[in-house]
Amino acid sequence: MVGLRIFGFENTPPNLLAGIKKTLDNQFSQLFNPVSLHPDFLPVPEDAYDSKRRQYRAQSFLDALDRVVPPTLHGLALVNYDLFVPRLNFIFGVAQPGGHALVALPRLRPSFYKLPTDDMAYFERVTKEVIHELGHVLGLDHCTQFCVMRFSNTLADTDQKPGQFCQSCKKVLG
Ligand SMILES: [Zn+2]
Ligand SMILES: [Zn+2]
Repeated sequence: MVGLRIFGFENTPPNLLAGIKKTLDNQFSQLFNPVSLHPDFLPVPEDAYDSKRRQYRAQSFLDALDRVVPPTLHGLALVNYDLFVPRLNFIFGVAQPGGHALVALPRLRPSFYKLPTDDMAYFERVTKEVIHELGHVLGLDHCTQFCVMRFSNTLADTDQKPGQFCQSCKKVLG
């Protein structure tokens, strides 16, 4: 089975990285094994910030991962910056099939919407987006079933979808 390495960039909360590693180890060990946590935080890539949009280019972070992830592993980064890709206003996450994945944290946090802190809801959302993007890494497309691979356009979409793969996606994963 192929291994996964989890990365934080500057300002990624360390407890969140540890929590995601634990969830992957405990509940998703059939996806990646081993799962390791990179000991250092990576610097935000110099070309990442778009001053017109006041957002960060997801591609710059994927390129940065590509430079540090050993070729035999996949990389997953939790990024505490608002990310975009061309033609979309923002993204919750992005993945390269067979490559690496990112999850952007700010819009998963209640405070982004001026709502009270809710650490449980926040962690659940981060977990769902992580599993969703890792599904893409493993070759899954979007799914219309009651499934973590449902596309999320809004935070409500993320909250409404389950944190697990449906039976047909499980079959594809093998
Ligand atoms: Zn997706
Ligand atoms: Zn599915």
